[in-house]
Amino acid sequence: MSGRLNNRVAIVTGGASGIGLETSILFAQEGANVILADISFEGAQKGAKIIEERYPNVKAIAAKTDVGKEADVKAVVDLAVKEFGRLDIMFNNAGIMHPEDDNALNTEERIWDLTMQINLKGVWWGCKYAILAMRQNATDENKGLHVGGSIINTASFVALMGAATPQLAYTASKGGVLAMTRELAMVHAREGIRVNSLCPGPLQTPLLMDFLNTEEKKERRRVHLPMGRFGEAVELAKAALFLASDDSSYVTGADFAVDGGLSKAYVTPI
Ligand code: NAD
Repeated sequence: MSGRLNNRVAIVTGGASGIGLETSILFAQEGANVILADISFEGAQKGAKIIEERYPNVKAIAAKTDVGKEADVKAVVDLAVKEFGRLDIMFNNAGIMHPEDDNALNTEERIWDLTMQINLKGVWWGCKYAILAMRQNATDENKGLHVGGSIINTASFVALMGAATPQLAYTASKGGVLAMTRELAMVHAREGIRVNSLCPGPLQTPLLMDFLNTEEKKERRRVHLPMGRFGEAVELAKAALFLASDDSSYVTGADFAVDGGLSKAYVTPI
């Protein structure tokens, strides 16, 4: 353990599964106290238990949070401040990919609205309450504690490139995350609050694998992947750790692609 996040306090939304779970574990390994905020309280509790067993020097708390509800997002930030006195890292990572999300003609408005509510508004609220909490860290400068904070928003490679296998609402929501993140990064740059997007490529997590439920659907995508494989959640967790820690102290407003080269691909190796 190298302690890159010693004394830091992190909230990870979607912390019960996939990227969020692996990141919560890695943040704890690096010394952070972590709140795993997820709509699945049971899943978040399981994650918190793993952390407490492996890393007894830090505290992990499970919080039942629906990021599609502003009051829930505010409550989890309040919880961080109440339990730990501060918030240093906000990983707005929870997101959905609805099975009925399709092209412009077939996507129903209720699917569009639900996707925006969680994937885009949820990230906005996460940023809003994190910024308010991180502003309070300014007074900690002379105590040797971290000033400001790091906000990381999970977007997607589909915000960077078009896919002929459409999920229009999802793609639009992630494009919104990228644009919003850049602007927030500029607005808060002089407050010591860094805001970056993480753009994962296609991963072996329940979110995508439940959707790609046949070998044919998987192969339709795999052929376009330069490395010839889907990514692993832990590979995104390592990138999130970089963005959360002082290793990225001069990085803000980035669209940080961790996609095995997918967004740079024209012709891929056979
Ligand atoms: P996952 O399905 O493994 O985990 C998502 C977690 O979010 C789950 O624990 C789920 O319970 C939680 N969640 C869902 N709705 C929520 C809500 N309203 N409030 C709080 N929590 C909620 O998925 P993952 O692959 O780890 O995805 C994490 C993020 O990465 C998402 O934003 C997703 O869009 C993005 N992403 C994933 C991929 C991929 O291929 N898996 C690619 C690009 C981007």
